[in-house]
Amino acid sequence: MNIEVVGVVGAGVIGVGVAESLAQTGHRVILVDLSTPILECAQEQIKNSLRLHRLLASSKGDGADVVLKRITFSTDYSLFNEVDFVIENATEKWEVKQAIYTQLDMVCPPRSILAANTSAISITRLGSLTNRPAQVIGIHFMNPVPLKPLVEVIRGHHTSDKTIEIAKDLLARMNKECIVVNDMPGFVSNRVLMLMINEAIFLVQEQVATAEEIDKIFRTCFSHKMGPLETADLIGLDTILYSIEVLYESFNDSKYRPCPLLRKMVAAGLWGRKSGRGFYTYA
Ligand code: NAD
Repeated sequence: MNIEVVGVVGAGVIGVGVAESLAQTGHRVILVDLSTPILECAQEQIKNSLRLHRLLASSKGDGADVVLKRITFSTDYSLFNEVDFVIENATEKWEVKQAIYTQLDMVCPPRSILAANTSAISITRLGSLTNRPAQVIGIHFMNPVPLKPLVEVIRGHHTSDKTIEIAKDLLARMNKECIVVNDMPGFVSNRVLMLMINEAIFLVQEQVATAEEIDKIFRTCFSHKMGPLETADLIGLDTILYSIEVLYESFNDSKYRPCPLLRKMVAAGLWGRKSGRGFYTYA
């Protein structure tokens, strides 16, 4: 199956990166979110990112305007009535995803594959919302998408080999390598990462060390490119909270209890880079 048009749901932190990477690699994209202001903001972000990457890579590829023209920005799900592949990147809340998968199953042609770019929600559970569980798969992109070469592909209980092959093919055309893992909430990356970030937030709460000191320990001692709290700011503290809540509910294990400071920061609107302030302040 040669996929030419890809539906992308959600134009937030990760959805814009997915749309940009798809368009950059020659795909036509239909990007759907809830409102025009969100989509206008996404358009601006993609334009700036394309220009920056072209500058940094001194790339000879298509210019930002050409790439941007491959993306249709819309609030209308009915535009998905011809797409072969959808990548869903909406808010990490079960109720939000539940409504979306029910709608996608109605709107998309029966042949379409639905890929969830969720941080922690079970792919099998998302597949159960549709009449096509064999065509529901997880593709966990890393942030920022245009710069990260590897993705986790998650095989739900009913995901077919054919679906996996089609997803791998699309990812190869996006210049992404993948590792296929079996479905379990949080998969590999976020089962570990979310615990680490949550524990680092407990350290700040207990005044064991500052965010800067904690991050420096991880960068200097363990050669991490970014410390856990810088990473949390990049991902979005709201998404971190929703993800750790999903892990807590899924495993019923107290080791995933969200740190009260994380809850407080999310309630205060300190969501990290996306809101201008989290553990650090952004211009
Ligand atoms: P975000 O809050 O930045 O963006 C979510 C977007 O979804 C918003 O623009 C919102 O308006 C939109 N949305 C909500 N309901 C919708 C609907 N019914 N239809 C269309 N759009 C809808 O969140 P994010 O960080 O981009 O995360 C999105 C998903 O990707 C989550 O499942 C998250 O766990 C996952 N994810 C995030 C990262 C990351 O680094 N932020 C990495 C990998 C995966």
